[in-house]
Amino acid sequence: MSASWTSRRLAALAAAAALVVAGGATPASAHPRPADKVPVAVGTGGAVATVDADATRVGLDVLRRGGNAVDAAVAAAATLGVTEPFSSGIGGGGFFVYYDAATGRVRTIDGRETAPQAMQADAFTEDGVALPFAEAVTSGLSAGVPGTPATWETALRRWGTLDLRSALRGATQVARRGFVVDRTFADQVAQNSARFAAFPSTARLYLPGGAVPEVGSRLRNRDLADTYDLLARHGSRALYTGPLARDIVRTVQRPPVAADSTLDVRPGLLELRDLAAYRAILREPTHVRYRGLDVFSMAPPSSGGSTVGEALNILETSDLGALPAVQAQHRYLEASALAFADRNRFVGDPAFVDVPLRELLSDGFAAERACLVGATAATKPVAPGSPDGDYAGCPAPGTAGRAGSDGQSTTHLTTADRWGNVVSYTLTIESLGGNGIVVPHRGFLLNNELTDFNFTDTQGGHDPNLPGPGKRPRSSMAPTIVLSHGRPVLAVGSPGGASIITTVLQVLVNRVDLGMDLPAAIAAPRASQRNSPSVQAEPAYPRAALAALGHTFTDTPEIGAATGIELLRDGRLLAAAEPVRRGGGSAGVVRERGPHGG
Ligand code: GLU
Repeated sequence: MSASWTSRRLAALAAAAALVVAGGATPASAHPRPADKVPVAVGTGGAVATVDADATRVGLDVLRRGGNAVDAAVAAAATLGVTEPFSSGIGGGGFFVYYDAATGRVRTIDGRETAPQAMQADAFTEDGVALPFAEAVTSGLSAGVPGTPATWETALRRWGTLDLRSALRGATQVARRGFVVDRTFADQVAQNSARFAAFPSTARLYLPGGAVPEVGSRLRNRDLADTYDLLARHGSRALYTGPLARDIVRTVQRPPVAADSTLDVRPGLLELRDLAAYRAILREPTHVRYRGLDVFSMAPPSSGGSTVGEALNILETSDLGALPAVQAQHRYLEASALAFADRNRFVGDPAFVDVPLRELLSDGFAAERACLVGATAATKPVAPGSPDGDYAGCPAPGTAGRAGSDGQSTTHLTTADRWGNVVSYTLTIESLGGNGIVVPHRGFLLNNELTDFNFTDTQGGHDPNLPGPGKRPRSSMAPTIVLSHGRPVLAVGSPGGASIITTVLQVLVNRVDLGMDLPAAIAAPRASQRNSPSVQAEPAYPRAALAALGHTFTDTPEIGAATGIELLRDGRLLAAAEPVRRGGGSAGVVRERGPHGG
């Protein structure tokens, strides 16, 4: 086991939780926390951490009734489809990472949305010019074949104990009975109100009476409850074939925009054959050794696992815990930038692009990249390296890459059960509110995941992430599970577009190297360097000493919204969510047990 993992005892958890709730190490508060949300829970029998109290409660119910971590993850995710519909849902996709206690193996499901067969490389251009991003988002063109229903069914069939019908029960109840609108939900509607108003199907659901739902009011989604019932009866194929598939195709091909709308909503290319052909794909996880730990995450088409992994390998060339804080942060920022340069140049859908994954995650390549980390900040963007197996000395500079965007959408949940199984699951509909279009009478928004493709070549003829028929756009999602001596010790993930990668990396470094416990590692102020001239940083991130090393900063109110679970050495589970960001998350355990067994 790693020295850093074992030598730093967890701080008294109650004290840590109190500090976190009080905002001791947190960014500026966005919203007051609703009373039913607790960001830290410690105990036994299983654990769930999500952004939402209903989803955590439904997941815990499943565990209490004898379900396992996979059942709980699907039940919680389905509930998020009701209560966090602007970040996730059956109209979207995601990546599911699972530690199977029976075999000791980490398995993953790629449930990424997929481009239609009719989509060509120039799909997001007109007359050779890239479409304005907002117009591409709110369109039929941006909607890929959803992967989430197939992901749930695949996970349950392979590793769960429940069928889809049972796993959807709690979420269906929440949809039918309704849930209480909180400040975060209302704000998210408000941010989207102009485009939501352009689609009567969306406005009817999320702008009841033509207005943003009031905080504290109850919102029901009977259409979604009916859609979940359909999936419960017929399985996920009810979305990929039949009447619901036809409704999705019609919605994409003829976006149901209000007659008086001024929005230019382009139609999409999705056809029934695209839906019918969809498959969730089982993939080998990415793996790196980091300070004696085994870090598993998501392989391409996500760049999450390869980029977090490469950055960790670069960081491992120095002992961060022994360095002054400013030096540790400097190295974190530089390693992120280097790994992003390589991500942008080399990572795309492996069915279309030859991704040099083994080399990107090799210690030799990391050593070559690490030699570019100097005493002061490198000029950004830095060039990608040469993951070619030939690693002697520092490489010559090449061409620079594109930074990648940071979204406000997506959600991450983490579950663990009494048998030792662990799930780390990130799911999304891409932008907050996806493409803005609720499938009429079906109760869910469609994704705009295809805008994760690059619209034009960013890599001098070598762009791995241009659109293509049946191609999956590159993701940044990085659901991660860390093992020590073959047993899970930590699971973590976050939303945040390309900043997912830096958030997961930062939480890992905070926990493994910098002596923080998991709640503090999640709460700590964040900074994100994605190979762009300026580092995005939350206001509380300390920067004066880093600025003296040449780093420049742009303020951003919040980065990410992580959840995680740590498996403590005494057998208890510690579930942790955000204390403040995005209104705070919700952690729960089946049986609470404080540090003294109470
Ligand atoms: N679509 C993004 C990705 O797959 C996630 C969006 C977000 O987190 O806001 O990387």
